[in-house]
Amino acid sequence: MFGGDNRGMTSSSFWIYENWRAEDKAVIHRGECPFCKDGTGIHKDKDEGRNGQWHGPFATHGQAQQHARSLNRRIVKECKKCC
Ligand SMILES: [Zn+2]
Repeated sequence: MFGGDNRGMTSSSFWIYENWRAEDKAVIHRGECPFCKDGTGIHKDKDEGRNGQWHGPFATHGQAQQHARSLNRRIVKECKKCC
């Protein structure tokens, strides 16, 4: 579902979490996703940059997807929770 309850927050932005350690993948999230939180969600500790990193924000899903593909990870997918 689009829209919902995020009143006052930013309009939807899109982020990519690139992970080259576990699965060699890039996952697209929305900024309001609890895993993403505008790029500060999971992996905000010192591991950042070792297991993976956030790319973004992107204005549209299409832009995020295009960038995700350009990373040349084996898997490009969308977060099941937010996308
Ligand atoms: Zn997500």
